[in-house]
Amino acid sequence: MFVGHYAVALAAKRAAPKTSLGVLVVAAQFADLLWPIFLLFGWERVEIVQGNTAFNDLSFTHYPFTHSLAMLVLWAVAFGLVYKVATGYMRGALIVAGLVVSHWILDLVVHVPDLPLVPGGGPMLGLGLWNNVIATVVVESLLLLAGLWIYLRTSPPGPGMKTVAFWLLIAFIVVVGNMHGTPPDTKALAWGALIGWILPVWAWWADSGRKAADRA
Ligand SMILES: [Zn+2]
Repeated sequence: MFVGHYAVALAAKRAAPKTSLGVLVVAAQFADLLWPIFLLFGWERVEIVQGNTAFNDLSFTHYPFTHSLAMLVLWAVAFGLVYKVATGYMRGALIVAGLVVSHWILDLVVHVPDLPLVPGGGPMLGLGLWNNVIATVVVESLLLLAGLWIYLRTSPPGPGMKTVAFWLLIAFIVVVGNMHGTPPDTKALAWGALIGWILPVWAWWADSGRKAADRA
């Protein structure tokens, strides 16, 4: 899943209005932000398999550190603690920790059974929505619409440029989330996936105007 993770980050703004959308995005996408780094270090592996699912050609053969439920719970505790110490905002800390774990639950819906519960063994889980392209697009689009609706009701639009930046960000997420095509190799895939790190910065900037509008 891609778009859906941003949808829950948007929706989480209502639960933790003082937390930047940038931080909420990092939390919801924490697993996928670490993943390309771990791939490049060789700690995790992915294979390109034509038609592995209808939606993409990726076979996630080994990603226990970024995508097992147990590790995401640990990452969530660490993320929440760091956020609490840095900001003192307990509500935000609980929400960002929840978002880190939400990644696994949303991925569970779309992945074919390749998500580990714990690193190093046990059953691999996945409900396989990616086997149906239309169902995947419909579910992700509905999540995004719900997330946008909640976010926009929580904070009124900020100054002009930031509103433009916000909608460009949403458009970018929709385009990337629905991109098809086979990556040339796993190295290129990992380097490409590092682009994900731009999105939290983009989200932080677009959202910062909205927070100002909230205070006014
Ligand atoms: Zn993921």
